[in-house]
Amino acid sequence: MATFGNLSERLAETFKNLRTKGKLSAADVDGTVREIRRALLDADVALAVVKDFTGKVRERALGDEVNKALNPAQQVVQIVNEELIQILGGTQRRLEFAKKPPTIIMLAGLQGAGKTTLAGKLAKSLAKDGHTPLLVAADLQRPNAVTQLQVVGDQAGVPVYAPEPGNGVGNPVKVARDAVKFASQKLYDVVIVDTAGRLGVDAELMKQAADIRKAIDPDEVLFVIDAMIGQDAVATAKAFQDGVDFTGVVLTKLDGDARGGAALSVASITGRPIMFASTGEGLDDFEPFHPDRMASRILD
Ligand code: GDP
Repeated sequence: MATFGNLSERLAETFKNLRTKGKLSAADVDGTVREIRRALLDADVALAVVKDFTGKVRERALGDEVNKALNPAQQVVQIVNEELIQILGGTQRRLEFAKKPPTIIMLAGLQGAGKTTLAGKLAKSLAKDGHTPLLVAADLQRPNAVTQLQVVGDQAGVPVYAPEPGNGVGNPVKVARDAVKFASQKLYDVVIVDTAGRLGVDAELMKQAADIRKAIDPDEVLFVIDAMIGQDAVATAKAFQDGVDFTGVVLTKLDGDARGGAALSVASITGRPIMFASTGEGLDDFEPFHPDRMASRILD
């Protein structure tokens, strides 16, 4: 995973300098925390998250657990690891399935974030686990979005519910509502609803997504965000949280050379867990997100 490459190197360098010391003075700790702070900011992590993170690391690094440790430098690395896991959401969160099927999963996010691709990935992985998913094309904004979902559905071997000409065309709320009814009748146990995205956060789009949410009352609303988005991550995530109150986050394009700031900001800023990571264009390039594994990758 190319993401975090630079951050990892910077942190490794910082810890290497620390390891040459025995006992750590307050100045050593401050110097280290300053370097960590710079490395995180350069990786596009949001300032509020960096401040909170470095504040906690500093407080713990100056405390007894480091002072009394046999290997103080090692102990500081351990603290950074633990605090990284915390800002990445603590423990892994899995999809929650409805007690009474179908489970409804709605996807929201900016255009190009990777929603349609993710819909296919989720559908394929759920089908592999024995579920019977139905994909729903409620992105009626882009002319070829429905076709794109159909292509993805074919690849995943999962059927796609799309508006019939003359019935619901142009009305994504109706399409989503009808699709859920259809899924109940035909005994599909998971409904994955792809929604429209625009290049920037947009009031009309957000209202449409909110209306779909209200109409179908999903069990999960997944906010899909491109890891390359950098400093815009926070504003975008907050806008979607206000608009659709998502239950979880999916990070896409973690295979790229993004600096990783979005990953390290979004869970902590919104208090919503990162549930999946998307790592390529293929439908199998997809994995559940584990905060502890991601922290280890960063500190490798
Ligand atoms: P949507 O507008 O949110 O539905 O986004 P799409 O699913 O159409 O994805 C936009 C582009 O990003 C497409 O070219 C996808 O193939 C690509 N894409 C999606 N997810 C990933 C990913 O995890 N890694 C990479 N490298 N490309 C991705």
